[in-house]
Amino acid sequence: MKSNIIDKKKSLLDFKNQPVIARAVELAKEFNIKIFLVGGPLRDIFLRKKVLDFDLAINGDVKKFGSLLAEKLKGKFIYHPQFLTGKIIYNSNYLDIARLRDEIYEEPGALPKVIPIDDITVDLKRRDFTINAFAYDLLEDRIIDPFSGVKDLKERKIRILHERSFIDDPTRIFRAIRFAKRFNFEIEKKTFTLLKRAIKESYLKTISYQRIFHELYLILKEKKFNEILFSLSQLRIFKKIFGKSLYRRNIKELERLKSLKTPLELIFIYLLYLLDFRELRILKKEEAKIIEELDYFRKIKRRLLRAKRYSKIYQLLSPLSLSTLKIIYALEISLRRKIKIYEKIKEKRTLINGRELRKLLQKGVIKNLKEKDFSKILLHLKLKKIDGELKSKEEEIKEIIKWTQER
Ligand code: ATP
Ligand code: MG
Repeated sequence: MKSNIIDKKKSLLDFKNQPVIARAVELAKEFNIKIFLVGGPLRDIFLRKKVLDFDLAINGDVKKFGSLLAEKLKGKFIYHPQFLTGKIIYNSNYLDIARLRDEIYEEPGALPKVIPIDDITVDLKRRDFTINAFAYDLLEDRIIDPFSGVKDLKERKIRILHERSFIDDPTRIFRAIRFAKRFNFEIEKKTFTLLKRAIKESYLKTISYQRIFHELYLILKEKKFNEILFSLSQLRIFKKIFGKSLYRRNIKELERLKSLKTPLELIFIYLLYLLDFRELRILKKEEAKIIEELDYFRKIKRRLLRAKRYSKIYQLLSPLSLSTLKIIYALEISLRRKIKIYEKIKEKRTLINGRELRKLLQKGVIKNLKEKDFSKILLHLKLKKIDGELKSKEEEIKEIIKWTQER
């Protein structure tokens, strides 16, 4: 029994033997600065999860420290001066480095002002939950845990550090639910009361859509994203932000998209579509387009279900981009066959194209055709071709003549 405990302890502190940590500590000693392991990776080590990407905090120059360490690790360093943070990418691992800092919230929901400091406890105090607010002092070899994060970790509790936490930064509402579901933890009673109060008092309205979208992305990446979304919806968070809740059937659709390995960007857009988000100017062009196409699809869906002629299927589906088709293909099983048919028939080409049409006009084979009607007649030909009604160039020419005469 005893040896078991010792073994556990040993594996807990194994991270110190990782070359990257050893290198960072060496360098911190050279620089004569403090260095701490912090944040999610430390929490995950205590949860006995396998950790490869670490978060470090130092009271020195992140840019200098980071670029030198990156050099030693033969990695790449990206520095973010506005946040005093940096990221080293090496052997396809990440190492995040941050300046010890205090953060001041000048108004609820806005990004905080960053102030460099020397005291780790002050740095820990600005964090979201106790389980994310302890540190390991790598020089002095000890845990710094002013908010009893380790205890909450053992008791499986999500607890904020102070009463204003959700008001200062309402994205923590999303984070609380996300961590609770991810680890199967409980949100501590008082924290939960304050969380619900912050929702009720509409503090979510103070965060920008960009920050909300970022949270939604992080949620979609989670294994239990479905439970997280359902919880958020039940807490009326989506109702507050988007004026619309998510229903079980909505979440089922998202599950289906994810299980079919649909790219996350598309699942995200579909989520916005489900939430009735239509402030399309905020989105990227391609994203806005997909939402518009999904709205269009909703209108033509019944007609498509009824459509028999291939040309009809083509006409109904041709306004959709590949991304939208991917979503529909994943969700609408009864339309899969038609989408497959569409993929084939859309490649069909008529033998006469625009250039040939012009030649035929010059030669006087066809008359009464204006340039502006070219695309109309070519589409007409394509539809006929799709339905198998045109087999040769001659038949196409005949059809064009017939078309011009009928007009
Ligand atoms: P994950 O495993 O999802 O990466 P994490 O805890 O590492 O979880 P990050 O978003 O990577 O979360 O942030 C790193 C650390 O920064 C957190 O552990 C937390 O201490 C702090 N932090 C992140 N976001 C906030 C926030 N909105 N408010 C306060 N502290 C935060
Ligand atoms: Mg992290």
